[in-house]
Amino acid sequence: MKYVYGPVPSRRLGKSLGIDPIPSKTCNYQCIYCQLGKTTNFTNERKDFCPKEEIIKELEEFINLNQDKFDYITFVGSGEPTLCKSLGELILKAKRLSKKPICVITNGSLLYREDVKEELIFSDVVLPTLDAGDEKLFIKINRPHPYIKFEKMIQGYIDFRNEFNGKFWIEIMLMKGINDSKEELLKIKQKLDLIKPDRIDINVPIRPPTESWVQIPDNNIIQILNGVFGEYNNINFPERGKFSVFSSNFEVELKNLLERHPMRQEQIFETFCSKKFNEQDILLQLNNLASQNKIKKVIYNNLTFWKLIN
Ligand code: SF4
Repeated sequence: MKYVYGPVPSRRLGKSLGIDPIPSKTCNYQCIYCQLGKTTNFTNERKDFCPKEEIIKELEEFINLNQDKFDYITFVGSGEPTLCKSLGELILKAKRLSKKPICVITNGSLLYREDVKEELIFSDVVLPTLDAGDEKLFIKINRPHPYIKFEKMIQGYIDFRNEFNGKFWIEIMLMKGINDSKEELLKIKQKLDLIKPDRIDINVPIRPPTESWVQIPDNNIIQILNGVFGEYNNINFPERGKFSVFSSNFEVELKNLLERHPMRQEQIFETFCSKKFNEQDILLQLNNLASQNKIKKVIYNNLTFWKLIN
């Protein structure tokens, strides 16, 4: 499968079947914390980057065989999914094939556009991000395409929220010394009060970020968050659980997973260990792939991660 992957364990969505309608690192942002590396196709143009017939074919095949093996169908992936011009058609197709809720994980930049709003309205959960409370910090963190303006984007969030009957959950990525001060969080809260999301998720960069100077906030962040968001302290921790693999070809399956995000070594062990294939065998394979310059080891926050070499 090229466009459909998983199900993968998700903190918010249980077992999530991922659909990736966008080629790797095609995005209208260049976030400092992006876990996929630098944006290689920096564009704000909506178009079909991949043949939609092929995405639909994979979707049909997977859903028909695995109806009860996932909790959500999630449009997400290695770029910004709302840049896909056929996203609405793909959402409707997924809805016809399965009764499971449809989720779209987006950077939210295009929610102000009528065509994007009309397409996302058919989904059940929309998860946009909001990492800054003003234009200056927005540009510093997300490094958006010049056509994207902060206040217009916020108005898009407010308007979409008013029209959308599904769940609207906003995620904030908090980074040390960048947006974790009380002052910056109060600015974000002001915008959230206007948008009125159903839920706010606080995330921290748990996987190696694009910019090596991006860091996880200190522990006193909980106090600051409590001061700003009341008793709210829903900090994200590394997800638990096994990823699904579909064949015994270690290299192919690992590459499929690493294309979505770097993985902790222990997560790779959990996913691939079997009676015939123990941790030592896996380590050997990982080092072998690293010696061929296909993947590399990264130490981040005292944890060992493996990521693809871009
Ligand atoms: S984090 Fe998401 S929105 Fe930001 S650059 Fe990466 S893919 Fe794009």
